[in-house]
Amino acid sequence: MKKVKKKTYNRKVMIIISVIVFIIVVFFVVRQLVGSFVYVKSEKNQKTESANVESNNKVSNDDNVIVHTYDLPEEEQNVAVPQMVYKITPTPKPMPSQTAFGYSVNGRTIGGWIFGSGSETIFFFGAIHGSEKGTVSTMNTFARYIFDNPAVVGKNKRIIIIPVANPDGYANSNRLNGHSVDINRNFDTAGWTPQGANDDFGGPSVFFEPESRLIRDLVSNYNVSTMIAFHSKGNLVHPEANQSSYDLAHLYSSYSGYRYYNEIVSYEGTATNWFREKRGGTSITVELTSHTSSDWTKNKPALLETIN
Ligand SMILES: [Zn+2]
Repeated sequence: MKKVKKKTYNRKVMIIISVIVFIIVVFFVVRQLVGSFVYVKSEKNQKTESANVESNNKVSNDDNVIVHTYDLPEEEQNVAVPQMVYKITPTPKPMPSQTAFGYSVNGRTIGGWIFGSGSETIFFFGAIHGSEKGTVSTMNTFARYIFDNPAVVGKNKRIIIIPVANPDGYANSNRLNGHSVDINRNFDTAGWTPQGANDDFGGPSVFFEPESRLIRDLVSNYNVSTMIAFHSKGNLVHPEANQSSYDLAHLYSSYSGYRYYNEIVSYEGTATNWFREKRGGTSITVELTSHTSSDWTKNKPALLETIN
């Protein structure tokens, strides 16, 4: 009897333990199933929302795999993220670095660019009068255009552009250089005197100024055949006194709309007059319509015609 009782007791214990184990197993299985269900549902909601809001999110065709475009830690996923506002401001392309040709009275670099490698060299410069700032914009825009469209330079051409021939004057919005000399009266022409036209001081002697010497040497070193000087604000094209200069001025006038003007008696000591007189070159002066505007739309067709 005692034995039977003990057996019955052991059986009861076994059943209780089995039930407990069963309950524990069922608990974990149910928990796992419910957890998976909630997870899948939540991911599907996220997918729908992201498809509606963020068309850039990559959602795979597999319902269980969602590729997010960003990965926040779980605790931050429900935190409101401040709206990012991007201001898209076009950044002007930086100008390519210049070749340094020399230095001004006050040590500023006089730089520019050389394009092409043909035998005919055309030299353009602006702001030999530092206050004529629009000419610098014309030259920079011209150079930028050639950098972006190098095919516009003719095969037989070499183009040299110096946007600021008088950097000391340009820095101070002053016509004159660091010696208070009008550089464009410091070139060696017949009849030169220190006191040039319009009371412009042309320096103590011809080519006394480093800026005029730089142009003289550049013309020689690069065997320049054509010089085009930019000034303002006469709204005209003026040739020096030879046939090739007349022809170029007529061409430039017809493409730009600037009036052809040949009634000025050439000033003594100017770069263009010196270039025609001492080098026999083709030489014109372009006067923009204002001291501040590049007149790019007027000059562009004329410049491109000149260099092709
Ligand atoms: Zn000028």
